[in-house]
Amino acid sequence: MPQHPTPKPWISAIHAYVPGKSAGADGRPLVKLSANENPLGTSPAALAARGEAAEPSRYPDPDSKALRAAIGALHGIDAGRIVMGTGSDEILNLAAQAYAGPGDEVLYVRYGFSVYDIAARRCGAVPVVAPDADYGSDVDALLGLVSEGTRVVFVANPNNPTGSYLPRGEIARLHAALPGDVLLVIDQAYGEYVSPEDDDGALALAEAHANVLVTRTFSKIYGLAGERIGWGTGDAGIVDALNRIRGPFNLSNTAQAMGLAAVADQDFVVRSREHNRAERARFVAALEQMGNHGLRPLPSEANFVLILFEGRLTAEAAFNGLAERGYITRWLPNQGLPHGLRITIGTAEQMDDIMAGLRAMAEAAR
Ligand code: PMP
Repeated sequence: MPQHPTPKPWISAIHAYVPGKSAGADGRPLVKLSANENPLGTSPAALAARGEAAEPSRYPDPDSKALRAAIGALHGIDAGRIVMGTGSDEILNLAAQAYAGPGDEVLYVRYGFSVYDIAARRCGAVPVVAPDADYGSDVDALLGLVSEGTRVVFVANPNNPTGSYLPRGEIARLHAALPGDVLLVIDQAYGEYVSPEDDDGALALAEAHANVLVTRTFSKIYGLAGERIGWGTGDAGIVDALNRIRGPFNLSNTAQAMGLAAVADQDFVVRSREHNRAERARFVAALEQMGNHGLRPLPSEANFVLILFEGRLTAEAAFNGLAERGYITRWLPNQGLPHGLRITIGTAEQMDDIMAGLRAMAEAAR
């Protein structure tokens, strides 16, 4: 018998989440383009609301009622079908925990968001990874791996770290072919970056069917990553299950106050989406104009671009070179992408400078 408490083997098997870094190896602060945060910061209205949050000596509203009502009104969702989370990470973990257990299968695509693996393992479930289609999510590959044991399917749309996006028809096809007792989680952390006319229909599916959960976050376009605000919507049964196991006071007073003000400032959201669209297009076009240096930007609908380094310049060298220049980006060897560098879309000046750095490094490596 061991003389110390032993974590469950499925817990010990977890590779802890690796957050985007904000400092170089020497501790020098760098411009952080490694965690897909908003380069425009936070809505001024949300910042102003920070000082108006309820007293810190008081517990927050356990049900985040006002914030749920505002989110519901914005999206046309019954607030009773919204569950709040300490970031959407909490919702993703709760979904796996509520619907999968030891021996069950949790399915997602290769190059999917790294939290799915953790969410599956921490409840003892078996992660099942479907092959990608040129780095994008492949509905047929996912469906091919659905088994009797499948309890939860996670799909990020747009996906992180690839930026790939499944159109409405593909999401509908995936849902239609899944057994009704499998929970389909559509993770829309980057959903607000997609043009409204390209909506993938996930919220409508969550409203109409008993086995769909859509998750969203305030960490990305709302610029509130530090306040940890996420939410999910689905059938009342799903929301009830998640509410039973979430942290009872999971959104702080400040988070609720800032979230509420942020929802009311949709101008900031639109401005952030427009900025992202314009800078992402400029960045991708500049990369494509570089010709045959072997830098391949994957098509992205999110607020980052994954560049594959298929020529002389390696992703590792580019990561180090950009760090020298003052930027921390996300090199992804731990996610099976040693040739991939994910760069969050920053300000126009930052993107110009990143582009100049990449061009100089690619020329030098020829
Ligand atoms: N889903 C995806 C696809 C993400 O990229 C992230 C953030 N990295 C999250 C969920 C979780 O974000 P948060 O917990 O801040 O809401």
